[in-house]
This record gives sequence, C-alpha cells and structure tokens, in this order.
Amino acid sequence: QLGVNRTTIVNAYHELAADGLIQSHVGRGSMVCIHPTMNQDRIPIQPVSWQNYYSSQAERMHNPVLASILDEISEEDQISFALGAPAGEYYPLKELNEICKAMMHAGNWQAFAYGPTIGHLPLREYLADWLRLRGIKTQAQNILITSGSQQGLDLLTKIFLEPGDFIVMEEPSFLGAIGVFKTAGAHILTIPLDEEGIRTDILEQILSRRRPKFIYTLPTFQNPTGTTMSLARRHELLKLAYQFHVPIIEDDPYSELYYEQGPFPSLKSLDEHEHVIYLGTFSKMLLPGLRLGWCVAPTTVLEQLSLAKQHVDLHTSTTTQWIMTDFCNQGMLDQHLSLVRNQYKRQRDIMADTLTEFSPPGLSWVLPSGGYYLWCELPPGINATSLLRKAAEKKVSFVPGNAFHIHSGGKNLIRLCFCHHTEATIREGIYRLCTAISELLNQ
Ligand code: PMP
Repeated sequence: QLGVNRTTIVNAYHELAADGLIQSHVGRGSMVCIHPTMNQDRIPIQPVSWQNYYSSQAERMHNPVLASILDEISEEDQISFALGAPAGEYYPLKELNEICKAMMHAGNWQAFAYGPTIGHLPLREYLADWLRLRGIKTQAQNILITSGSQQGLDLLTKIFLEPGDFIVMEEPSFLGAIGVFKTAGAHILTIPLDEEGIRTDILEQILSRRRPKFIYTLPTFQNPTGTTMSLARRHELLKLAYQFHVPIIEDDPYSELYYEQGPFPSLKSLDEHEHVIYLGTFSKMLLPGLRLGWCVAPTTVLEQLSLAKQHVDLHTSTTTQWIMTDFCNQGMLDQHLSLVRNQYKRQRDIMADTLTEFSPPGLSWVLPSGGYYLWCELPPGINATSLLRKAAEKKVSFVPGNAFHIHSGGKNLIRLCFCHHTEATIREGIYRLCTAISELLNQ
C-alpha cells in the first residue's frame, strides 16, 4: 500500500514532465528518465526561455506581414501580387556576368576587401552626378551607401528616435517603415492623403500642437496608394517644415518609374534650407538582391549615420558596390530604366484591363501614373483578410490594406504589385483573384 494520494502523484508527474524527465514510448508506456542534459552533479539543466531575456525593443519587432510576404517567394505556383519586387525576367544578368568576369580577371582584390563605412567613392561620385541631373544639389561626401533603403530607415531611426518620441507619417504608408518606427517605440502621428498627397492642412494643425522628430513621407508613387504629391503640396510641406523646424525624411524608391509624364521634382531638389534627408535605392528600378541604397544628408547627419552604420555592418558589401559602379558607369542604369518603364507601364495596363474584364461590380482602383502598385477598394461587404484566405486556396496573394495602417483602417483595401510578374501571369493571377472575390460575394 502506498501512502500517497492520487493528486500528489499527478502533480509529481506534471513537474517531472515540465522538467523534461518523462519519456513516453508507444507500447512501453511512460517512464522517468535521466535527463539527457543533466550535468555531472545530476542537476537538470533547464532549456533557456529566451523570450524572458529579450529587450523591450525586441518585443516590439513583430511584423508578421512583411515576414510572410518574404516567405511566400519560394512557394511554387503561387502568383504573388504581394511582393513589391521587380520582375526577374528583366534583371540584366548578361551584363552583370560580364562585369563580374572582368572584375575577377583584373584581379581586383580590393573588390573583396573591407571598405570605408560611407561607401565606395566612385559609386558615390556617380550617384552625386546622377542626383544633380535630377535637381538635387549634392556631392559624394554627403552620400552614404546603405544596404538597401530599409537600412537607411533603420539608421535614421537609431540616430533620431528615443522611445516615446513623436513622428509624423502618411496613412497608409510603407509597412517596413511602420515596423522600424514602432520597434523604436515612437508615437506615430498619422496624416491622411488625398489625390494631391499628404494633407498639409491637417499636418499644420498637428504641428502647431506637437513637435515631432521628423516627418516621413513618400511623395512620388506612394507605397501603397500610388499617389503622387502635387507640386503645390510639395512647396506647402516644405514651408511647414521650415516654419515648425521639423526635418523631413523623403523615401523615394519609385520616382524613376514614371509611365506618363515625369520625372517629378523630389522634395530634396526643392529644399533650400537643408531640411530634407533623402533615401534612394536600386531595389525597385533595377534589382533588390545586391542590397544597395543610399542616403543623402547634411554633413553632420551623415557623420552620425556612418557611426551608427559602423556598429551594424561596418559597411555595405564592397563587392556589390564595385559591381554596381561598373554597371552605372557603363551607362546601363539609364538603359535599363527605359526598358522597365515600358514594360511596367504595359503590365500596369494589363492588370487594370484584366480587373475591368473579370472583377465583380463594386471593385475600384485608381490607376497610378508610375511606381509598382494598384490600390484597390473591395466591393462592400468584402473584408481583405477573408479574401486573403480565399485567394490562398487559389494560389494568389496580395497585401491586405490594414498592414499599411497604424490604426484600424484599410480593412476593405488591398495592394497589388503589377511589376513582379509578366503579362500572362498577371492575367492568370487577376482572374484567380476576381474568382475569389466573386465566390465570397456569392456566399
Ligand atoms: N521604402 C519603400 C517605400 C519601399 O517600398 C521599400 C521596399 N518595398 C523600401 C523602402 C526598402 O527597399 P530596399 O531596402 O530594398 O532598398
């Protein structure tokens, strides 16, 4: 007879199980084992509960939408209108191959060595000339090469933001930027957009009450809405920035991809009092895999950004900077831009035409005059998240509008990228998407 009651045994069992000391085998039952990670003194070593050690910043890093868009890339048969990436078919692989071969042949070991944090001088010189042609008065020493403009955003956040600081951004806006600012613990003040861009009348009211660290804006072919800020609005925005002493971060990955008239003058090119910090990237106009972007900033800011970058990755890959320098200096960037402007315009039109052909009544969108995205409003009663599930059954995807909102908006909106797939795939994908919408409407 055991003098132990059942509850004690059950509790003991649970404690052993929690310590990982119960092993169960089919047909043999459960037994208490010597813990495999018991140390020499037979003290069980607990697995580390890593979450308990995370910083509060790590806890704010949650960005499930971005992660799932990137994961989706490898899925077969999937037609992704979610990923904001150029079409692989247009990557200039032959030209890049020649450049790499010549680089190896010349035995340029420097292309594989450490380099300066600010970036490879010939690339910065090329960019300074290229930007000057676009009205931005700058020079190589005011350009920092970054590992994509996503890193530029992160570095700017590191040098400017303290938890609790206010910043201003358009709503909806780029989800990668929302993630960075939220992770830093910023309070995000949102300003709506209309067809002329950020509502400067609302911004003025906000600025007269609060002093944000900066205004983050995407004036040209905005992500996700495709909106382009009018010239008058650009001037109003700059005026407010000067009046209230608020720096502007201008994120400008899409402005070279204009399909009607263009290019539009950037805020940076209109800025006469060094209030604008400018972010550019090769990712959208060429390819994203080399991870090359740049930041144009006043000298003191650039020095601080370089210090921040040193701690992150010392410098952007020397090898990819050398490759891109040759590519650009051989005039291939401008050549490539002419090609993709043509192709993406056709793809935009095919997406819009196919939507017109197959979409059920109630779906609407605004045709953007450049960039990557169609921003669509779903028929009444259809929710973007339910549609995403339905669309997944048909192997097509998009980004639901709420991912671009800081608050609760965007539930009936979706973003479709028309650049990543070429024409036949766009037609097939839009057909699948419209079928999913119709099925939901008929449920
Ligand atoms: N800013 C905006 C507005 C973007 O849309 C993106 C990419 N989707 C980025 C920055 C980041 O681009 P990358 O880091 O590839 O240069």
